[in-house]
Amino acid sequence: MEFWRPGLRVWWRRDGEAQIGLDPPTILFGLTRADHTLLEALARADPQIDCWTVARRLGWKREAYLAFIARLPAHAVVGRPTKEATPAARYWSLVAATGSAHGTDRGSAAVIVDGVDRLGLLLVDAIAGAGLGTVYLHDGRAVAPHDLHPGGYLADDVGRPRARNAVHRLRPRHPQTQFYPARPPEYAGAVREEQPPRAPEEKGRPPQGRASRAGRRIYEPLLRGAHHGPAEAAEGVDLAVVVGDGAITPRRIKPYAALHTPVLPVTVGELDIAVGPLLAPPGPCLRCVHLHLTDADARWPALATQLAAEANPGIDPVVSQLAASVAGHQVTAIADGRPTAVAGVSLHVDGLHPVPRFRRWERHPRCGCALDHLAA
Ligand SMILES: [Zn+2]
Repeated sequence: MEFWRPGLRVWWRRDGEAQIGLDPPTILFGLTRADHTLLEALARADPQIDCWTVARRLGWKREAYLAFIARLPAHAVVGRPTKEATPAARYWSLVAATGSAHGTDRGSAAVIVDGVDRLGLLLVDAIAGAGLGTVYLHDGRAVAPHDLHPGGYLADDVGRPRARNAVHRLRPRHPQTQFYPARPPEYAGAVREEQPPRAPEEKGRPPQGRASRAGRRIYEPLLRGAHHGPAEAAEGVDLAVVVGDGAITPRRIKPYAALHTPVLPVTVGELDIAVGPLLAPPGPCLRCVHLHLTDADARWPALATQLAAEANPGIDPVVSQLAASVAGHQVTAIADGRPTAVAGVSLHVDGLHPVPRFRRWERHPRCGCALDHLAA
């Protein structure tokens, strides 16, 4: 049974000629008036109604219908009805038709966003709007006046814990996404020794699968509030997004690294915001990043400690919005299992450039992750 591909549109070009899709286009010639009518009806039909039912309602006979379907490009129809034809589902259905890497697994993905300031909340809004299934929020700090923005925290939230208040603001806006305030797992033991060597062929799929299974038992959402009943068991995460000011310290990464959960750092600098590099085997890891920065400035560790301790309220909101979108783009890529742009790369957005610039990061020769790689 065939169903019209969700999102695929049809345009009349002239009598007898119609175009299916734009990117790329397929043009059909020699169409009758009935063919035109059926094409338009198929493209407008509910994606849960199969094509034959649409044709039958227009008076088509089975044989003529089958001959008509055979003239369509193969990508015009899909084998299953589409239950939730959201804008994101339609979009990725059209990407799939082009043969490009695609995936729509994000509905079953779970992500923790660690650091829910203004930027973190913008990011959560972006990924929830894109259909992320479950988002845990971790941030015990209080909402500050510079965290407020339209559609985000409200003035009443100032002074209250960020994660809990973010959940209250997000739930009505994104009813399809599960939100939980959460705390990261306890860091238990050394990090690098626990990472298993990875086979080269495993690189294609971002290495979150194993981590998520490992994490499922360990994340514990905090109580959702007396009026919400007892804590629910968390299902773990596929990716941790750690949002921080100035520098991300190893202390914030270790709990996730110990579980082999990939970490996407989002770092607010003085003039720019960096998304990445994705911290996951085979590296580079956060230690590599800090070693490279220490090579450039021997006093970087002293600066990093101070930078991480102080919020930077001086970022243009449009830069925060851009960074949240770039980070959301990469989070959905990882959740879908698509290739990412942040493997060994940080993407930098600022107020001067409308597209991100990037910096490549290599494993640092003095870091253990490079040694692990050489030994493997
Ligand atoms: Zn390293």
